[in-house]
Amino acid sequence: MACQEFRFGCKLAPTESAAVGLEQDRSLRVGDQQLLKAGKEWIGSEQFPLAGERFGWGQGYIGAVKPASAEPSQSTEILILGGGPAGSAAATILAQAGRPVQLLERERFPRFHIGESLLPHSRTLFRKLGFDPQVEAAGFTPKFGATFFSACGQHVRRIDFAHAEGLPCPEAFQVPRDRFDQLLLEHAEAKGARVFQGWRVLEIEFGREGVQVRAQGPGEESRILRARFLIDASGRSGLVSRTLGLRKRDPKLQKVALFGHFRKVKSGWGEKPGDIRIVTRSDSGWLWFIPLPDDCTSVGLVIDRDRIPAGFPGQDEAAFRQWIGQSKIVAEMMASAERMTPLRVEADFSYRPERYAGERWLLAGDAGSFLDPVFSSGVHLALASGMDAAEVLLQHRGTGALPRRALREFERLQIQRYRLFRRFVLGFDRPEFRDLFFHQPVPEGIYRAVVSILAGQDRPSPSLRWRLQLFFTLVALQRRFTLVPRLHHPAG
Ligand SMILES: Cc1cc2nc3c(=O)[nH]c(=O)nc-3n(C[C@H](O)[C@H](O)[C@H](O)COP(=O)(O)OP(=O)(O)OC[C@H]3O[C@@H](n4cnc5c(N)ncnc54)[C@H](O)[C@@H]3O)c2cc1C
Repeated sequence: MACQEFRFGCKLAPTESAAVGLEQDRSLRVGDQQLLKAGKEWIGSEQFPLAGERFGWGQGYIGAVKPASAEPSQSTEILILGGGPAGSAAATILAQAGRPVQLLERERFPRFHIGESLLPHSRTLFRKLGFDPQVEAAGFTPKFGATFFSACGQHVRRIDFAHAEGLPCPEAFQVPRDRFDQLLLEHAEAKGARVFQGWRVLEIEFGREGVQVRAQGPGEESRILRARFLIDASGRSGLVSRTLGLRKRDPKLQKVALFGHFRKVKSGWGEKPGDIRIVTRSDSGWLWFIPLPDDCTSVGLVIDRDRIPAGFPGQDEAAFRQWIGQSKIVAEMMASAERMTPLRVEADFSYRPERYAGERWLLAGDAGSFLDPVFSSGVHLALASGMDAAEVLLQHRGTGALPRRALREFERLQIQRYRLFRRFVLGFDRPEFRDLFFHQPVPEGIYRAVVSILAGQDRPSPSLRWRLQLFFTLVALQRRFTLVPRLHHPAG
């Protein structure tokens, strides 16, 4: 399907179709009953009053309430594609505010997902989502920092989140994503979002009055579903970006990751328990080691795309071991390691869209942009952008197109965050950045500014910005003048 115009709700007038969507969407919840008891109309919400009175759907409508259906409604106000962190966060915010929201997820959870290392600033977002108690109770591995090793293994830099500024709690977590994502999706559902797993979106059409998708459920027949607004949180599938041809690869960050879960990976090279360990390679590549429960460690290698031979089978453990064995410290860590899961490959590393939003749609998480994960920023950025997208819809009262000003502001925020972290990711590829990064006596204020960003501070204060600028100025000077000793780079 191309991006042709269609009429939202087909034979119905826009307001009527919204009402039909609502009728099919709503199941009675505790809050609704309370409203009814208080003698108030429960349709819609304070933020988004719908046409209950006009259609005579006041208190008397209780008898007509339908139980939650196992099938998605044909029309709904807000449709979210994807139930990863971005989609679940968006769904939670909207459902908490009483907005009718329907989420389609291709997989059945729990499902494997890479990206297990979280940042402490995400805790603030969890609190806004009402999700922090679940994370606390889940028994995930606490993470208080990250330990970076130079390629030769002689230089170690520990990033201690306790040194970050403006961080309420320095504790983050290492999470098996199958479990974490499931908890978050269930949380969205508990808040009132209608979640449909096993529904794959195949096509999207954009119209003046809404968006229409074709989705394949557990049955063989595909279905057409309509919504006033769409949040694309389909991750690296990037359904909207691909449909509209918006995705632009970042030419400076074309990498490939090979990864799997291993047991019996050795620890004890100066890291603190729970730290993510990052080992750099001399060729701008790097490896991660993320401790998970039951002696499981997520191990991954990120290298330049052109180092991978064409047609390389991702599951080739011998090649993987050969690559990681090039680093002495990694060879020691992995000496007795046994693989627990198949090896996987992710290419198409860093990208950004030409636009993050349109009159009827918003991109959240990896469906918008993706950055090399060296600083574990992905889940945090996904949560934040999902919540931003939800806020745009909450601020918008009515069924008309999203106002340009709101779209511009949403886009500005996403670009700002992307650039902030990209600067570090790009820097990390450069020897002069690594020289300074690993050099211990960096001035305290500058070190704290760097740690603050690496803890997930995505809206730095002017003071932080100024000190970051100083850091990058030092990096630029190091390139020419050798301010600190240069790291030894053995072949890697
Ligand atoms: C190698 C690697 C290592 C990483 N390491 C880290 C890390 O340590 N820490 C970190 O924070 N981040 C890490 N990331 C990034 C992180 O995994 C992502 O940024 C994060 O998962 C993005 O969340 P999301 O909700 O946008 O997308 P996802 O989590 O990918 O969720 C998207 C969802 O959409 C669903 N979907 C896709 N297509 C369709 C469709 N057609 N119809 C319906 N549903 C669909 C998918 O099934 C999926 O559940 C890493 C990424 C990679 C590639």
